[in-house]
Amino acid sequence: MAIAEILCVGTELLLGDVLDTNSQFLARELAVLGIDCYYRVVVGDNPERIKSALRQALGRSDIVITSGGLGPTADDLTTECIADVFASPMVVDPETLAFIEELFRSRNLVMPPSNRKQAMRPQGADILPNPVGSAPGIIWPIGKEALQKAAIASEYVAQDSVNAPYRVILTFPGVPGELKAMWSETAGPYLAKHYPSGTIWSKELKHIGIGESALAEKFSHLLELSNPTVAPYAGRWECRLRVSAKAATREEARLAAQPVIDEIRSGSGVTLYGEDDDTLESVVANLLVSNGKTISLAESCTGGLITERLTDLPGSSRFMHSAVVAYSNEAKEKFLGVDQSVINKYGAVSEEVAVAMGKGILAASESDLALAVTGIAGPGGGTEDKPVGLVYVALVASVSPGKEPLSFVRKLLLGSRINRSEVRYRTANEALNMVRLFLLEPSSL
Ligand code: ATP
Ligand code: MG
Repeated sequence: MAIAEILCVGTELLLGDVLDTNSQFLARELAVLGIDCYYRVVVGDNPERIKSALRQALGRSDIVITSGGLGPTADDLTTECIADVFASPMVVDPETLAFIEELFRSRNLVMPPSNRKQAMRPQGADILPNPVGSAPGIIWPIGKEALQKAAIASEYVAQDSVNAPYRVILTFPGVPGELKAMWSETAGPYLAKHYPSGTIWSKELKHIGIGESALAEKFSHLLELSNPTVAPYAGRWECRLRVSAKAATREEARLAAQPVIDEIRSGSGVTLYGEDDDTLESVVANLLVSNGKTISLAESCTGGLITERLTDLPGSSRFMHSAVVAYSNEAKEKFLGVDQSVINKYGAVSEEVAVAMGKGILAASESDLALAVTGIAGPGGGTEDKPVGLVYVALVASVSPGKEPLSFVRKLLLGSRINRSEVRYRTANEALNMVRLFLLEPSSL
């Protein structure tokens, strides 16, 4: 089993100015190839530290993948540092130089002398072509002797690298689009060929209405498995269990994961809302369509967020009827017919007003379902009785013409430690989940 290490070069990454998405991409791609990634390192544009990180990586990993520092400017140092580690001279690659010159000519420009640097490679290294940019990378298989000569301490030996060099270095530019293109066209196929260690297949099972630790506890016996593996992840007011299996082919891996997925499905009950690319809103939308129901919304503190999430989905006109953002008391009266006396008696943030808002939009729209939300998103506006984070969500459902609709209310106490946008987002989740539960299993509401 081969081990890879990702080494991202760039001071901007250390300063937090740029998010290291290249590591994420590379890590996922390595997992698909079944190559283990034990270390991910970020180092600034400093030659001594880059060389030290390279030496360390070469001592403990078969495959060292770098990102960044291939450009023409003085702070682009990766290739020179690699050459330096092996005391190898930098030589011009004539084909690359011709290619870069041609690139400039085709844009009617003269190549600045600094770009010549991008055509240099350490003697002995091959060019890793870049199908979309000017700077190619290098691919450099390194033998055991070269490693010893460079005085790199390396006790680590891959167990089954019959097909592969002792070590290999692959370099990529930092620009994410270029890195991805190079990966899929050149590096990915190279690694798949030389390190054929099977593949990983995984599925995410998404839950709502249960915390990460409760979910982990519920399936604790599965978290100990080694293949397939099950890992819990916290999301934005939801959590997921990722089941991953490793096998020679994707299909074998999928089959190996299946019994565990089935066990989680049957043990989860209504907290399991979807998988992989499903979102809460897409699941709710599908349920509304399959049940032939339409919905309307009366939103106060969520300011239209629930409506936005539902109407972001293509085809939302099949289930979406109408929506009103009724922020002020007057709006609640005027557009939703909420009785002023109800507001005066219970306050705008109350169970009674939430239900009245829901009934108001249901009657006006004649849709099948209505969601209404009223609450205090903060940071100001809270009182002892009605603190920040207090939200009422009402789901009102028509039964039959002339009959009083059914209503369900949830009181949320989200606390003052989460900010305004999180209060709104979480409220939207709770509201959408009420619709889901109503359509799936009303008794769970
Ligand atoms: P260039 O020819 O553009 O100089 P380069 O290979 O020298 O390319 P860098 O200069 O290190 O790459 O980075 C170019 C840009 O790519 C950075 O400004 C940054 O926006 C982005 N970038 C660099 N590293 C990463 C990373 N690990 N994840 C995401 N984006 C990155
Ligand atoms: Mg650069």
